[in-house]
This record gives sequence, structure tokens and C-alpha cells, in this order.
Amino acid sequence: MGPSPYPGSGLFYSHPILFLGNPPWRAVFLMARGFFDMDRNETELEIYRVLMVGVGGLGVPAALALGRAARAMVVGLIDPENVELSNLPRQIIYRTADIGQPKVTAAARALVEDFPELIIETMPFRLEPENAADIVSEYHFVIDGTDDPATKFLLNDTCLAAGRPFVYAGVLGFSGQAMTVLPGRTACLRCIFEQPPGQDEALGCRDAGIIGPVAGAIGSLQAEEAITFLSGEPTRLAGKILTYDALATPTTRLIEIAPRPQCSCGAAAHAVLDQPGSQPRKTL
Ligand SMILES: [Zn+2]
Repeated sequence: MGPSPYPGSGLFYSHPILFLGNPPWRAVFLMARGFFDMDRNETELEIYRVLMVGVGGLGVPAALALGRAARAMVVGLIDPENVELSNLPRQIIYRTADIGQPKVTAAARALVEDFPELIIETMPFRLEPENAADIVSEYHFVIDGTDDPATKFLLNDTCLAAGRPFVYAGVLGFSGQAMTVLPGRTACLRCIFEQPPGQDEALGCRDAGIIGPVAGAIGSLQAEEAITFLSGEPTRLAGKILTYDALATPTTRLIEIAPRPQCSCGAAAHAVLDQPGSQPRKTL
């Protein structure tokens, strides 16, 4: 990979690039999914590349869960924020000494120390309309760890355009939800919400607060979806939204989401072809 066009971004290698235990089927799997159109050499193609957008309440538990998968994997971290004292109780990867440091840098240091299989790429800036397509297209799977609706919709639209699967999530108070979107095949965010909420409607996490263990559960679930997808298995949350409410019984519910016929993602047309009983497709 050439020099990054983005300021302040960097790579953290935990060790020289050794893809131990990388079975030959992985390259075949990647080829089957059409990833060979990416401008990479064959060695790089053999490992998964996962993009984590936001390294906060959701991103931290998701990144730790990816590390625990103990696979050679490139994880891209993008987040413009610095570590603050208020982050420490919930975002457990950060230490007091990290306060004032970019979150991506502090998280990268901790991750490569604990999980030698990971290679971390850091991007200490915001995902914006100007850079989103370039960044998203560099990864095989995207995890939405953001806390603002505008970025969630930007991520949705960018992943759809680039054909990259992603797992959306949101947490608020004692509840959370997650859904995986396979572009053009399963319902997207606009199938559910159509438009981002207005400024007044959106009650952000900063205002409403979130409960740490709820974010931990949802973030770990997002990592599980990434690993399941990249392993070639059908993901549990493709076309289904999982809701988690720590105060309700039952705590979790899984709701099927039909693609909206008028949505520009085009998943509705595909769903008509996919009659019940058909096998899950192995390729996008
Ligand atoms: Zn849609």
C-alpha cells in the first residue's frame, strides 16, 4: 500500500507481517467474493480488512472482540476525537495516561500489545462525504461505531455504493440495536428510516447517555457479525434487526426487516427473487 493521502494516519504493526495459520482457502474465499478488484498484492489479499468507524462506546468493545478472534486481520480505526477523562469508565481500552491523545492512536497501541495478530491502521479524523468512498473501499467489512445519525447515513450510502457489507448499531440508555446490511441484498438504513432525523429529533448518546454493558454487548455482537461474514458463513443479522433492552423481558428480540420497495438500495427487487427456502448466497 502506498503512502496514505490522509493527514496523521498511520500503521501499527505488531510484528513483521507473518500470516501464520492463514489457510489457503481464505484466498479462494476472497476471490469468490470479488475482492480481487482491490489494488493489492496477493499476500495482502489473504487477510481480512475490517474498518471500525468510531472508537468509542461501541467501537472499543468491537475492536477488542476482533482481537479475541485471534486471526491475522487488518483493522482500520477512524475517529477524530481525543481521549477524555469521561471516556475511561466505559471505553475500557483507554488509560489515564492516554487522556489528550487521539483515540485511534491510544486504541492501536493497546490492541497491538494484547493481540499480536492484528495490524492496525489509524485515521485520526472524521469520516466525511469527501473521504468516505476512498476509505470504505479499502476494507472488506465495515463496523458502524458512530453516535450521530448523519455519519450513519453517510456510512450506509457509501457502503451501498462501494458494495461493502456493514453492521449498523445504535445504543441509547438501557437499549441497543444492530443490523447487518448486505448491499443490494438486504434492507438498508434507508429502508427503515428513509431520512436521517432532524437535529431536534435526534437525541444523541451524549445527551441521553448510554449504559456501558449495553454498548459492550452490542459492540461485541458487531464484531461477531464481521467475523461470521468474513468466514463465509451466513450472518445472523443480515436483513434482521436485533434489539436489546436490558430492562425488558425478553431482553433480546430479532425482527425481520423487509427491504422497502421504493428505496434506492434496490434490495427489494432482489428479495422478490429470493423466495423462502432458497439457500443463502455465498457471494455478494
Ligand atoms: Zn434500502
